[in-house]
Amino acid sequence: MTSKKNVTAASLAAQAMGWIDPVTKAVVPPIHMASTYQRDEDNGYRSGRIYARADNPTFDQAEATLAALEGGAKALVFSSGMSAATACFLALAPGDHVVVPKVMYWSLRNWLSGFATHWGLAVEFVDTGSTAAIAKAVRAGATKLVWLETPANPTWAVSDIAAAAEIAHRAGALLAVDSTVATPVLTRPIEHGADLVMHSATKYLNGHSDMVGGIVVVGDDPEIAEQMTFLQNAVGGVQGPFDSFLALRGLKTLHLRMKAHCENAQALAEWLQGHQAIEKVIYPGLESHPQHDLARRQMDGFGGMLSVYVKGGEPAARRVMEQCQLFTIAESLGGVESLINHPAIMTHASIPPQRRESLGITGNLIRLSVGIEAVDDLREELAGALR
Ligand code: PLP
Repeated sequence: MTSKKNVTAASLAAQAMGWIDPVTKAVVPPIHMASTYQRDEDNGYRSGRIYARADNPTFDQAEATLAALEGGAKALVFSSGMSAATACFLALAPGDHVVVPKVMYWSLRNWLSGFATHWGLAVEFVDTGSTAAIAKAVRAGATKLVWLETPANPTWAVSDIAAAAEIAHRAGALLAVDSTVATPVLTRPIEHGADLVMHSATKYLNGHSDMVGGIVVVGDDPEIAEQMTFLQNAVGGVQGPFDSFLALRGLKTLHLRMKAHCENAQALAEWLQGHQAIEKVIYPGLESHPQHDLARRQMDGFGGMLSVYVKGGEPAARRVMEQCQLFTIAESLGGVESLINHPAIMTHASIPPQRRESLGITGNLIRLSVGIEAVDDLREELAGALR
């Protein structure tokens, strides 16, 4: 399945690689529900497909399009972002040392400090927004994987992928990047030296908050590709055909949506940082962001996620949330609709308060997933809520 012409990523995504059904000439691929495939009379499988956990043709176009957008050799769909991320760690062996961010998607952090640690991985949490901290933590020969999430949820530290790749590779480790928030429209980690890119497809790739899915894209190492293919099938956290169809449908508008998310978030961030009820705004597109220069170099836009510290502590933050209607109070991010989240009482509520606050997740922190609505409506609603 190849693109019709040598075209830009936006065109390639809009046509999902230009696939046309050879029999019906349909421009949209069918959803294949079959769980198994007929064997040839001589016991062969000339169709190349045996059983749908590994071989569903509905995966093909989503995987091929994502591989092309990320500049990888192979992409694999998973049933969720979590199953995609954990597959990357399950490819390691007990005893291996891994370096991961202190602030990252919280369920994965819990899995790493719980399950993965009991299983035998030596997990070291560092401030991956600091290249020096990564260099200090990586141990030549012992470290097998460095994991970045950039920008990192919910305080949006940006990590230097190229510098981390160099450090990881020098030590004999792989570099993997959770690029859920950046998407291939804004950052392509493989171009910067990453070996693996992971996405929660539930977020921007799908973009409509109507499926759960994950993707792992592998750079050019056939051995890693083989191992991830084995894990997709053997662990079985594979995507359902309908979800795969929805992921592909979402990809077709990814470039347009990301442009709108970035424009809206930048406009709100700039407006909020001058607002008298706001203590601080965290958004990679603001000069006040600690890694703004790096974000300018590494990203083609600063994304749709921002967080604010409001004046007046947790009670004020709760009041702001309660006033919102256009911003729906909900977990998740990356859909066309704007969401508002209070990490201290929602996503990060299970962390002891002192520990949470040491990570910058204080009671007055509010996280916004800025959607593609008219920015004036979003600004007006926040102005009212902050009043
Ligand atoms: N990575 C990031 C940055 C996320 O925000 C999420 C979900 O919120 C995940 C991974 C996990 O994805 P999923 O919910 O699809 O399992």
